[in-house]
Amino acid sequence: MNIILLGPPGAGKGTQARKLVDERGMIQLSTGDMLREARTSGTEMGLKVAGIMDRGELVTDEIVIGLIEEKLEGEKGGGFIFDGFPRTLAQADALGALLERHGENLDAVIEMRVEDEVLVARIVARSTCGMCGEVYNDETKPIPADGKCTNCGGTEFNRRADDNEDSLKTRLLAYYKQTSPLIGYYYAKGNLKPVNGLGEIDEVAGEIAAALGG
Ligand code: AMP
Repeated sequence: MNIILLGPPGAGKGTQARKLVDERGMIQLSTGDMLREARTSGTEMGLKVAGIMDRGELVTDEIVIGLIEEKLEGEKGGGFIFDGFPRTLAQADALGALLERHGENLDAVIEMRVEDEVLVARIVARSTCGMCGEVYNDETKPIPADGKCTNCGGTEFNRRADDNEDSLKTRLLAYYKQTSPLIGYYYAKGNLKPVNGLGEIDEVAGEIAAALGG
């Protein structure tokens, strides 16, 4: 089963993708993670996208489609979770063509709905474990007092450079201008499954499971 997690920044796509990986053995393909990795390892492409990402703008379709294409060549089976991709209509068309070329289907597009005020509150308080990516929130899920990640025991926590109010405004605008047309696109294709992304992590996971047919 191949699915897309679609939603604005802070909707919980990464958190739910990680659960699907743990529980169903699916393969998470997050273009945001791939781009951050390229930056950390200092590749030419990584350096090129750094400023764009920090401002909260979208990197070119060509770059992200190339990244996904590479991963689809290398990975097999398990089912893919596209997390943060596609983000434009051109990316959606390219994904359709790529899946077809690999003899794969797109089974569902989970649209994670969360109000804008909640997104802002979630993102400005967000940090993640540097080892396993577990997500923490200063208000609702603070880093444990012993300084150890509850999931893996890691002791380093990071805040994303683009998790600040200025970048977030640009990221939200990019979502509404460039990504939200995908909701209509996938509705018309019959793939869209809206899910309320506001509840506790396990509640949202339950809704996603129901949308995917248990
Ligand atoms: P994310 O981790 O999904 O929030 O992505 C972080 C940043 O990476 C975004 O704000 C964009 O600058 C860039 N990015 C990630 N995925 C894409 C994509 N599919 N298309 C264009 N830019 C992307």
